Amino acid sequence: CGIVGYIGVQQAFPILTKGLHRLEYRGYDSAGVALINTENRLNIYKSHGKVSELERFCESKDISGTIGIAHTRWATHGEPNDTNAHPHFSTDRRIAIVHNGTIENYTVLKQVLEQHGCVFDSDTDTEVVVKLIEYVYRSTGCSLLNAVREALEQVVGAYAIAVISADAPDTIIAARKSSPLVIGIADGETFLASDASPIIEHTNQVVYLRDNEIAIIKRGEPLQVITNKNEPSTIDIQTLRMS
Ligand code: GLU
Repeated sequence: CGIVGYIGVQQAFPILTKGLHRLEYRGYDSAGVALINTENRLNIYKSHGKVSELERFCESKDISGTIGIAHTRWATHGEPNDTNAHPHFSTDRRIAIVHNGTIENYTVLKQVLEQHGCVFDSDTDTEVVVKLIEYVYRSTGCSLLNAVREALEQVVGAYAIAVISADAPDTIIAARKSSPLVIGIADGETFLASDASPIIEHTNQVVYLRDNEIAIIKRGEPLQVITNKNEPSTIDIQTLRMS
């Protein structure tokens, strides 16, 4: 199970899938990717099985885009199949999420969202998080960042997440609590991953996100990190030793 993300000047898909291969040693049952193309369309491809099967599945698809997130899944809630594979997405298919960890109170959150008319496709705990983000985002008209922050306030459990939206095609929002997340900083591009192994070939400048922090990764802008209480956090950039 692992997460990879990329925003920058290069095509995201090869970087993301190579990153997933680097994380293969962690074990997984499914793989998937979400990309935003130049027409601001969010494309999501996912399947049960190996990363190489995802790559084959994507051969005939639009895999263009310089922003994307990807995932290898180790199922905790819901059997390994195409629907339960990540990324999960909002009802309007404009917001996508990848998640490592487990949401303990997902049953309660799901019931409340269903009472508000929300329909679920998968059996995962993760889909509840993206549908909750969508619910906050649409019902309050707040920014995507605030919707993510407020949704995470409701969530009990462990997570490393990355979120992208067709409404904000130059931003990745990432957050963690009890699951690892590393951000790699290079000139004009930013990487994120569950550990440094997918990042090291691109940059040795990394930031280890701390528990209860949210990273706002914007194209062409310096990394911003806040706490889940919306206070600015210090950013400690570390230099990895290339061996
Ligand atoms: N709990 C999530 C699921 O079952 C994420 C599992 C993982 O960390 O890969 O889909």
